[in-house]
Amino acid sequence: MNSLVSRGFKALDYSVLSASSLLVPATQRPEWLREWRSELWHVRRECLPCCGFSWEAQRGVTAFCAGAIPDALSLRRHFHVSGGSPAVHGSAPQCVLWLATLLALCAVLARLLPGVQTELESARYHIRPGLILIQNAAITDSSIPTITPAQFADWRATRQRSFDAFAYYRTLRDTAFLPAARPTKWTIAHATLNLFPLLDLPVKLASPMPSDLPAIVLSHHAWARDFHSDPRVAGRILRLAHVTGRIAGVVPEGPWRLPDDPDAWLLEPSSQMAAATTSAPGYLLAHLTPFGQAEMIGQSVPITVQGPSDSDSDLAGVSFCPQSEDPWSTFEFALFLALLALPAVTSVTLSESSFSTFRPGFKRRLARWLFLAAKLGIIAAIGCYASLDLTYSRIDIASPWAPFVQLVAGFVICLFGFRWAVADQRQRCPVCLRRVTHPARVGIASCTFLGWNGTEMVCLGGHTLLHVPSLPTSWFGAPRWLYLDHSWDFLFANKTAA
Ligand SMILES: [Zn+2]
Repeated sequence: MNSLVSRGFKALDYSVLSASSLLVPATQRPEWLREWRSELWHVRRECLPCCGFSWEAQRGVTAFCAGAIPDALSLRRHFHVSGGSPAVHGSAPQCVLWLATLLALCAVLARLLPGVQTELESARYHIRPGLILIQNAAITDSSIPTITPAQFADWRATRQRSFDAFAYYRTLRDTAFLPAARPTKWTIAHATLNLFPLLDLPVKLASPMPSDLPAIVLSHHAWARDFHSDPRVAGRILRLAHVTGRIAGVVPEGPWRLPDDPDAWLLEPSSQMAAATTSAPGYLLAHLTPFGQAEMIGQSVPITVQGPSDSDSDLAGVSFCPQSEDPWSTFEFALFLALLALPAVTSVTLSESSFSTFRPGFKRRLARWLFLAAKLGIIAAIGCYASLDLTYSRIDIASPWAPFVQLVAGFVICLFGFRWAVADQRQRCPVCLRRVTHPARVGIASCTFLGWNGTEMVCLGGHTLLHVPSLPTSWFGAPRWLYLDHSWDFLFANKTAA
């Protein structure tokens, strides 16, 4: 019985040591496990009785094994404080891994921020070029409706040389009876059926519709606000004031907004709109023919129409919704500016000078350039996502400030990121791309011309020394590499082949 208990405790002791060794950094684990097992052998021999079983002695042995846990934790802490293995410390893969992690964080954040997603989605949609909003020439505010249904009927009935398509809508502030919610006041636009085809704007979530009821198209913000972005909203029946219609889809969000920013569009045939008895004015959108575009003066085109009593009235066609800034092209411009400005903030020459005639081979030089290209590429991608995150986390996509903020953020991140990448490259060993470290002061300040003084750094792989003069002179201006031969190997216990 006692023998069985002893064997059980022996297995427990070895298990504790094995579990503790898992806390030790992998490179040192086998050595420490061997050390602890040999110590345990001695402790068991000294403490345990030759025959029989002693709880007191066994407790001492188990306490000894448990002592391996704080030892392992201490080893682990020391390993991280000292920067880990010399082979990993400051290595090129470690640098790329850190940058890739930062890039992944920025990309995930961009994926989670609704403002960024809305901006990226809206960049896929563009309003058709050549559209103008026709309004009274005396009115400069495009949000004020000026065109009556009678004028629309008149324009629609006559042949036009300057325009090839018209769409018309007028807005009312009326009650929307939402399902499972209290009636609410919406800005409802009564629009012609061709409004969205004229804008060349696809309607999202559209589904085949029976033609029994008028079609209702929701604005993106009304869909998000009152329908909680429900993707199955199409096909539902909705009552707007005294008209019952069926939801046909949702307009994609974008920096463009139609005048008066309606919550929903109730689509009606053009003949019905033109025959409306109301005299409430609305908005008339037209698409210019090439002839009409040639008549544009700046962003507007003057229009004179003959009224019913042979009196001329002046209208103006104002270019409608200039194309929004694409966030990708904004970033490309920021990247271009950062590359242009880089020589102003740092020296971009990477030519190296050396004390010896030794030069790294073609493969190592190629690896060095590929590493620099990888760093610059990842930093550019970080700049792209980070500038989107910074801009569209707080700023509305319709704000005119948004592209400007994105441009500045992208420019600053790329400029200083590239500056760091070039500076980092200068301190990378040309042989193994590891960052040189352990700076040491060499020489005395007066030895500027007959000797040199400055800082000496070493590659932990034992390949090179980097000499950086503290006071650049005509004969020693740029940092110089000193390639170490095999006579230096005894200094580097962890020297690895590059
Ligand atoms: Zn090296």
